[in-house]
Amino acid sequence: MPPFVSPALIAWMSRVAPEFVWAEVRARRVETAIELRHRDDAAQAAERLQALSPADLLVWSQTDSRGAFRPNRTAPGLRSGWRVVTRNSAELEMALEGVYPGAVADWHAVSTGAARPIPFREFTGRQTGMYRGISRLDDAAAASVVRSGCDAAFCLRCRLWPAPGLAADSEPEKSAIPCLEPCALLLEFSRQAARASSDGVGAMPMDPADRESLIAALDQALHQRDPGLREGDFAAPLNPRRLLRLRQRLHGGGSGGAKSSEEG
Ligand code: SF4
Repeated sequence: MPPFVSPALIAWMSRVAPEFVWAEVRARRVETAIELRHRDDAAQAAERLQALSPADLLVWSQTDSRGAFRPNRTAPGLRSGWRVVTRNSAELEMALEGVYPGAVADWHAVSTGAARPIPFREFTGRQTGMYRGISRLDDAAAASVVRSGCDAAFCLRCRLWPAPGLAADSEPEKSAIPCLEPCALLLEFSRQAARASSDGVGAMPMDPADRESLIAALDQALHQRDPGLREGDFAAPLNPRRLLRLRQRLHGGGSGGAKSSEEG
């Protein structure tokens, strides 16, 4: 009996004709196999790349070039220098699940109309406990949090869920991998922003030259990120998502305020 192949994987394989870029992975048909490699290695000779097994790709994608754990597997930064040759659907599925878990199923659910992206307000309105206070972010602050938290510099999933005043992400700026609801990282980032906005510190008057200096300093900090900082450490003042949000606010991209001063 032939092995069962999920409809999602069959649909995905049909997109490899002869190539398909899946976030940072490039899939290409090579005779009867499908080869996966980092998209930055597209022009590399095969013998210059490290041959990984389909199972190896899970471990490979869990750490960055410094060996640090990658909590968000769709964050840019997948290490290059490898190739995986998958000779059947089971090997392909193992490799794809290893590098981007759940992504093929989400992509197929969206392409068949079976998935409903959950809007930011609906999702955060359901939160209880320490995340309850997120719903008090005003619309401008919620937009600022989502715009910076889901920026392509930090995540390649294509956000399809609506956020106040923001259009959905587009595939060219992110990838074909969809995001159907706010993730744990964004939830924590939103909580940190809601908490900061309820501290009641007033806005400091700033002339254009001060703003210009501050934006230049933020740009420098964003280009020279501290490699020791954990992605999800939003208490750290130099967290890149915090820096980007502040930069966007200096450009008038969000108030950073809450609807009330009560904190959840
Ligand atoms: S919520 Fe934002 S950061 Fe989280 S997976 Fe979706 S797009 Fe990425």
